[in-house]
Amino acid sequence: MSVNTTKMLSEADGYDLLRQFNVPAPAFEIAQTPDDAAKAATKIGYPVVMKIVSPQIIHKSDAGGVIVGIKTDAEAKDAFNKIVTSAKAYEASAEIKGVIVEEMAKPGLELIIGGKIDPAFGRVLTFGLGGTLVEFYKDVGIRLLPCDDDDIRSLIHQIKAYTLIRGYRGQAPLDEEFLFQTLKNACAFFEKNDNVVEFDINPLRLYEKGGCAVDARVIVQDEPVDLPAHYDPAKIVPLDYYKPRSVAVIGASDDPTKMGYAVFRNILQFPGKVYPVNNKRDEIQGVKCYPTLSAIPGHVDMVAITVPAQLVPGIMSECGLKGVKMAVVITAGFKEMDEDGRALENRMVEIAKNYGIRIVGPNCLGLILPPFKLDTTYVSTSPLPGDIAFISQSGAIVNAVVGISLSEGSEMGYSEVVSVGNQCDLDFLDYMSYAARDPHTKSIILYVEEIKNGVAFMEMAKEITQTKPIVAIKAGSSKRGQAAAASHTGSLSGSFDVYMEAFRKCGVVPVKTLPGAFQVAKALGDLKKPLTGRRAVVITNAGGFAVLSNDYAETWGIEIVDLPKHIIDELNTFLPPFWNKNNPIDLLGDATEARFRGVFDVLCKNEDLWDMAILVNFPNKVLAPDRVAQILIDNAKRTDNLLVGTFVGGDCLKPGVDLLKKNNILVFEELEFTYRALGHLSWTADR
Ligand code: ADP
Ligand code: MG
Repeated sequence: MSVNTTKMLSEADGYDLLRQFNVPAPAFEIAQTPDDAAKAATKIGYPVVMKIVSPQIIHKSDAGGVIVGIKTDAEAKDAFNKIVTSAKAYEASAEIKGVIVEEMAKPGLELIIGGKIDPAFGRVLTFGLGGTLVEFYKDVGIRLLPCDDDDIRSLIHQIKAYTLIRGYRGQAPLDEEFLFQTLKNACAFFEKNDNVVEFDINPLRLYEKGGCAVDARVIVQDEPVDLPAHYDPAKIVPLDYYKPRSVAVIGASDDPTKMGYAVFRNILQFPGKVYPVNNKRDEIQGVKCYPTLSAIPGHVDMVAITVPAQLVPGIMSECGLKGVKMAVVITAGFKEMDEDGRALENRMVEIAKNYGIRIVGPNCLGLILPPFKLDTTYVSTSPLPGDIAFISQSGAIVNAVVGISLSEGSEMGYSEVVSVGNQCDLDFLDYMSYAARDPHTKSIILYVEEIKNGVAFMEMAKEITQTKPIVAIKAGSSKRGQAAAASHTGSLSGSFDVYMEAFRKCGVVPVKTLPGAFQVAKALGDLKKPLTGRRAVVITNAGGFAVLSNDYAETWGIEIVDLPKHIIDELNTFLPPFWNKNNPIDLLGDATEARFRGVFDVLCKNEDLWDMAILVNFPNKVLAPDRVAQILIDNAKRTDNLLVGTFVGGDCLKPGVDLLKKNNILVFEELEFTYRALGHLSWTADR
């Protein structure tokens, strides 16, 4: 956002502006004296409300600056004096511009509509339960603008207080259509007034018919607000940049304690040409070494740079002359360090731009493309090839996931692993775009601390998630360290909420943990079709897990549907009379294969009644785990709905678990995890 002065419009100016966008506001007059106030009140008609007008007083009630229910001239004069006295006592230096006398709106449900600008994601609309206790309720939702009718309707439905709008305990429903229109009008107001930085309509009173704004706080700046840029397809790096024929390591080393040692050791797996560059050696790790890049006889497409930061701009010029396309700058000590580092980084970027070199990093672990055996990092062991792209803002986390993926029992492999570093040139978007175009990649995992170009990110992610799932861990959900805000809208949602809404909008699935990210990414990559609903049927032979299923499902937003009568009737024809006749369908501890298969026959015939079927199994003598697994495998061929296994009971169930994994059927070994993951997977159902 540009640095220019911001100011708060008076309530009167705010009302005038809102009225232009068809947001109803009370009739008002501004009074300068007690007599004025009485005259204005008579003109408007009693009862009236009077409030302080001062640019310095943001929360008028806190300053004793609001008096409601004024019924006579005498009360109006008295109120004028009281308001001015309280305001002066509250803030001695406040400039008092008078007292606003306004029509007293009848009581109604008090809601808040607000707007603010997020530096990365642009205009944010806030809506929820309002009034003076708004921060206490914290019953709000947000949407990123521009938003469509569905976004606004789901926003209204999402808050807890929607129950009150719909009509609670015999009360008549309120005017939801008016509210919907008013939210749309507020969006239009925000979008058309490009100098509005922030606004609150708190409260908007909602009635059985219509409604009325009874406070307006609009903060504007002189200049139009700078909004984040759109995604520019022209900036996308061609795929051949990622497919070098030859790679040089600048700063390659024979000393195992040096970064240049590990980087060159990893590069040695590359099937193309590899060159160590080091002016103190003839040979490094058994390969002929060159004193400089220019001394290398053949062409060099990619370099990995590990030498100290001060040397990097010079090397970048050499890269330019040599025709290098991509430079992976592992070296730290750039803008993350200090102003000198920043200047160094800018110089390096400028040189690279002149030559058309693209930069990974700096201050990063590097880039790994396992299907091509290309590893420019100093990880201790290279990861296996596979179908997950892992893009991380933390180098340490890359090290950790690579380590975990190589541990026993893990079947994880990657198509792309990158630590983004300072993102001086290539950024999240570029690595996502690579993954989207790369045929090896089935799903994408992001570890995100901050995304600078949020709007462009959303545009790109929305496109990618049509074909490949993106799962993201966003760090920074804690309230600690979040800046205090002046307005309600500012304090009601933090930047984490904005990320979550951005993810929802572009179909990125948020997860909290690394194991969760992998499980969900894998599951989403294997889904036959995206989940469009959250309706689950649970089939089990374990009564206890049936009960727990209800608890976990509720926690994670999975809806265990009631079975319609015709289904129960059909199940009754072959299940023993004492089955529970309910969902979860408890087939009892002695459940045979025939019982399970019979239930799936009925479910597959009625597949529009549910979105996912969860089979929960435990160790028992009646039915071996691989037989149970086979039931799921066979039925997965008959329906496109999601079938999920949950085999709780440790190693003795492994044959079943392995069989399911081999057949790409989603399986968990812990019941809560099943519901947690399904909650994440059905994220798309809300879109
Ligand atoms: P604040 O600056 O403290 O937010 P408001 O203008 O919102 O001041 O006034 C505080 C409360 O007084 C509102 O939440 C609302 O309940 C009530 N109020 C304010 N204006 C009116 C009005 N014109 N008609 C009826 N009630 C009002
Ligand atoms: Mg208010």
